[in-house]
Amino acid sequence: MTGVLEVEAVSAGYGPVPVLRDVTFAVPAGTIAAVLGANGAGKTTLLRTLSGLLRPAGGRVRFDGADLRGVRVERLVRRGLAHVPEGRGVVAELTVEENLRLGGLWRSDRADARRAQDEVYELFPALARRRRHAGHQLSGGERQMLALGRALIARPRLLLLDEPSLGLAPKVTAQIMALLRRLCDDRGLTVLLVEQNVRSALSVADQGVVMSLGRVVTAAPAARLRDDDQLRHAYLGF
Ligand code: ATP
Repeated sequence: MTGVLEVEAVSAGYGPVPVLRDVTFAVPAGTIAAVLGANGAGKTTLLRTLSGLLRPAGGRVRFDGADLRGVRVERLVRRGLAHVPEGRGVVAELTVEENLRLGGLWRSDRADARRAQDEVYELFPALARRRRHAGHQLSGGERQMLALGRALIARPRLLLLDEPSLGLAPKVTAQIMALLRRLCDDRGLTVLLVEQNVRSALSVADQGVVMSLGRVVTAAPAARLRDDDQLRHAYLGF
C-alpha cells in the first residue's frame, strides 16, 4: 500500500549509548500517528533514525514496502519523506519566499515546485502576506508554518514532525493540527507527529504511540488513549 510506514524492531543510539530498543509500530497510509512520552523517551531519536540522520543499529524501517535503512537523506526525500525538526530550521536572514524556494531547490520539475509554492501560500495566507519579510521577523507560529510549508514543497507522502506546537499559542496549534488532518484526508499524506502537547496531539491523531526509556510501551487508537482513564493514567500521566 502506498504511504504506509512500518517500523520493526528498530534499535539505535549515539555511539555506544543505546537509546531506542526494539521499537515496532506501523502507520497506515493517510493517517496520523502521535509519538508521545516523557522527556528523554527517545522520540526525537526515533524521528532522526527514520529520516536517515541516524543509522539504526538493528531492525527494519519500510516505507511503501521498500527498506529505508541505510538510504541516504537525499534519496529519502526523493522517495517522499520529509522531516521538520524541532527548532524548525527556518533561515532567519532569508525572506519567506526565499525559504520556500529552498524547499524546492533540488526538484527538477521547476514548474511543479512553483505550483507547490503557490499552494503553500493558499494553505497559509499569513505567509503570503509576509512573503517579503525575513525569517527573523516572523512570529513563532509563522515560523512553524514556514517550516511546514517548506517541507510541503517537496510534495512529501510521509511527514515527520518534531514538536510543531512548541512555543505556540493554543489557537495556532489548533490551526496547525487541523491543517495536518486536512492534508491527510485530502491528499493521503501520512504523518508521524512527536508532541509534548498530548491533548492536542490526540485530538488530531488516529493512533498514539507511547514511548518510555526508548521502548514503545503501547500503541493504541488515539480515541482509546483519550477516553480510557486507566490507559491515560498509566501511560500519559493525566
Ligand atoms: P525531548 O522531548 O526532551 O526531546 P525525546 O523523547 O525526544 O525527549 P531524545 O531527544 O530522543 O528524547 O533523547 C533520548 C535519549 O538520548 C536521552 O537520554 C538523551 O540524553 C539521549 N541523547 C539525545 N541526543 C543525544 C546525542 N546527540 N548524543 C548522545 N545522547 C543523546
